[in-house]
Amino acid sequence: MTLFSAVELAPRDPILGLNDAFNADARPSKVNLGVGVYTNDAGRIPLLRAVSEAEKARVAAATPRGYLPIEGIAAYDQAVQSMLFGNDSALIKAHRIVTVQALGGTGALKIGADFLKRLNPSAQVAISDPSWENHRALFEGAGFAVVNYPYYESATHGVAFDALIAAFESYARGTIVVLHACCHNPTGVDLTTEQWRKVVEVVAARGLVPFLDIAYQGFGDGIDADAAAVRLFADAGVSAFVSSSFSKSFSLYGERVGALSIVTQSADESKHVLSQLKRVIRTNYSTPPTHGGMIVSAILNDSALRAMWEEELGEMRTRIRTMRTSLVEKLRAAGARRDFGFVSAQRGMFSYSGLSAQQVDRLREEFGIYAVGTGRICVAALNTRNIDAVAAAIAAVID
Ligand code: PMP
Repeated sequence: MTLFSAVELAPRDPILGLNDAFNADARPSKVNLGVGVYTNDAGRIPLLRAVSEAEKARVAAATPRGYLPIEGIAAYDQAVQSMLFGNDSALIKAHRIVTVQALGGTGALKIGADFLKRLNPSAQVAISDPSWENHRALFEGAGFAVVNYPYYESATHGVAFDALIAAFESYARGTIVVLHACCHNPTGVDLTTEQWRKVVEVVAARGLVPFLDIAYQGFGDGIDADAAAVRLFADAGVSAFVSSSFSKSFSLYGERVGALSIVTQSADESKHVLSQLKRVIRTNYSTPPTHGGMIVSAILNDSALRAMWEEELGEMRTRIRTMRTSLVEKLRAAGARRDFGFVSAQRGMFSYSGLSAQQVDRLREEFGIYAVGTGRICVAALNTRNIDAVAAAIAAVID
């Protein structure tokens, strides 16, 4: 017997496992549509010009690296609030939003989950079926029981909206409902504004606790348009959690830049909530890291850098949408008997392509094209060099 002899081998992360298999594949024509990162037309993760500029200025300034405040950089937290809730938000003016810098969107979810566990230990958490694979593990890890609410309907490539509402209406008060504010991962299928209005109404009426996860703001229809759901909840005055991430929108994946924002009912509540969030952070990692936060803050708070970044974000958004329509057209041209038009209507980096696990296996084995077994493909990994091969391969496996 040793200290670790009873330790079982934990299951491998399925997507990271897919990456290992991709890296080991010797075929030069291989394409990785599995991972959740944006690559440019050259197939590389871009370093945005605005980021590069801000980094140069930061190096030139040779600033010392003291500890940040527990809640992070004040100018960063304020910029996050404006991006999410709008420059003119009445809630911001009334000090009804608390924002803390977090280690990416994941870190924001974790701080929020830990705080919620102290607040309401017996609450149940509901996540969409399907959802980002880390949602369940993260909330279970924080000690919650997690259930799925109906979301994706494969027959229509849409949302099982009536079933979703029925589920929400059946939940006990205090149930935490995790919602993808835009660019749903993994399906790419979002609620319409009308549907969001109904969700807000039911959440408010039933006393549910909305936890909005927004990891792709700016990748759907634009920065403000993608925040519509967040703002609908804010307008309704509902106490809410929002985890946000700049990993994709600034292409700063490894810098871990995100934030947790909480909408409260008063400035006084905000003070109390902030004090508790600081306790959660202090006992986890004490204070957030400097570099990514400083870069994002410098860009969001400087009009020239911000304009440059918004343009680059727009380029990424447009490129993804072009890849969507292009894939649909190329599949049609390749004689695919199925209509893939729904792919153009989806938003964000991902698409539930409708491919079966067997078809995904064939794509990998016969063509060196890697996708997740659920049929999720990362549209942001398509480019003008690989899209013809991908369309031809998909057409071949579906017939
Ligand atoms: N939420 C969702 C829905 C995501 O897709 C992701 C990342 N893929 C995250 C949160 C986490 O983002 P981050 O990498 O910033 O931790």
